[in-house]
Amino acid sequence: SGFQAYLVGGAVRDLLTGKTPHDWDLATNALPDQVEAIFPLTVPTGKKYGTVTITGNGHSIEITTLREDLAYSDGRRPDLVRFTKEITADLARRDFTINAMAYDLGTQTLIDPFGGKHDLRRRVLKAVGDPKIRFKEDGLRMFRFYRFLATLDLRPEQATIKAINPQWAVPVSKERVGAELHKMLVGTAAVKGLEGLQDSGLLELVIPELGREELESGDSRKKPLWQHLCATVAAIRPQLHLRWAALLHDIGKPLTKKTGPDGLHFYGHAETGAKISRLILERFHYPNSLINQVVKLISLHMFTLGFPYSDAAIRRLIAKTGTTVIGDLLELRRADIVATGQITSATWEYWQDLTQRINAVLDEANVYQVNQLALNGYDLMNGLQLPPGPKIGKILRFLLEQVLEDPGLNRKDILLRLARKYQKTDES
Ligand code: ATP
Ligand code: MG
Repeated sequence: SGFQAYLVGGAVRDLLTGKTPHDWDLATNALPDQVEAIFPLTVPTGKKYGTVTITGNGHSIEITTLREDLAYSDGRRPDLVRFTKEITADLARRDFTINAMAYDLGTQTLIDPFGGKHDLRRRVLKAVGDPKIRFKEDGLRMFRFYRFLATLDLRPEQATIKAINPQWAVPVSKERVGAELHKMLVGTAAVKGLEGLQDSGLLELVIPELGREELESGDSRKKPLWQHLCATVAAIRPQLHLRWAALLHDIGKPLTKKTGPDGLHFYGHAETGAKISRLILERFHYPNSLINQVVKLISLHMFTLGFPYSDAAIRRLIAKTGTTVIGDLLELRRADIVATGQITSATWEYWQDLTQRINAVLDEANVYQVNQLALNGYDLMNGLQLPPGPKIGKILRFLLEQVLEDPGLNRKDILLRLARKYQKTDES
């Protein structure tokens, strides 16, 4: 339609490093109203700030009118933006040089006024303009700084890292911080980002429970607890729920530390840690599904089966955790062992043996839940002439226990017989 179109942001960066962009942001000299007039399907995502999302064919692309940010007073969002025709002015408002490049789709040229390509090649993360001013006008950029260090494994430019000041992060919303932490944690160099947040004091501001002093009171091993948590994050698979569980798994230790005649112990630290973790994750408004997953992993992370253990004991454990969580628990345990440097010890052999046995049991077609039994509540009501009620659930749970002990019992006739017997002893 005669307007300019530039590819901007992460997509340009990704293309220059050979990665596949996960979203495409465009910038244009067309005004938001004009963009809406050109495309049949649009959503006014952030029209006040120039952003309109166009959709179609199951894809969506954000198009933002070239703009300058004029005044920041709340430390987070510009009060005033001014639309401009100049791509360079638009790039100047962006946070880091590697994010301040544009690809002109018309002339097919790279526009790079701040040396982003050079910085990307030498793997340096550097603010556009005076870093102090840039971090002060929007405190979220400091979290983005550590996020990009972690996801792209970059080195900080000296003046940029020196400019970090946690005070400027106070007005930033927890949701936005949470989104940056999320990206950081699954990054290839997640620990680099975490260490940076810790050293700068930013981490303590958003997760006081992870502050250095707070954790030092819970030191248990030769290694400080913070280092242990970081090492566990580094060792675990880069999936969001696993990384959060690794970071928080021992957070209950400072509160449960006791010295008994037999030395230091942390009884109940898993349960306490699970409660603290829920509070932390809720603060960032993460989805409940993620929170529940992490909390469950932390509360169960000390699970153990006394040696020698039977297949029935393994089935009971799986019934308690669920068939997917058990795999995650093994992964958390593996990372925990690696982080404590125990891979040459009996702990490691125990883990290997346990993993093998659990996987073998998982390969069998076992029953782990009441609703997988060969009979249901109606069968019980009919077979035993019982009215509906809590009793039915109680019998079903009893039957599940029997089947966990011996999977061969999972036949309708056998279960009915067992149910009758159970009812008699229960009544007597
Ligand atoms: P990702 O791969 O996570 O999408 P991204 O660089 O595209 O990375 P976005 O949050 O999608 O990050 O932002 C798109 C672009 O907008 C950034 O590359 C940057 O140029 C600019 N930007 C985003 N947030 C800020 C901010 N807080 N301050 C300045 N510029 C920003
Ligand atoms: Mg993006």
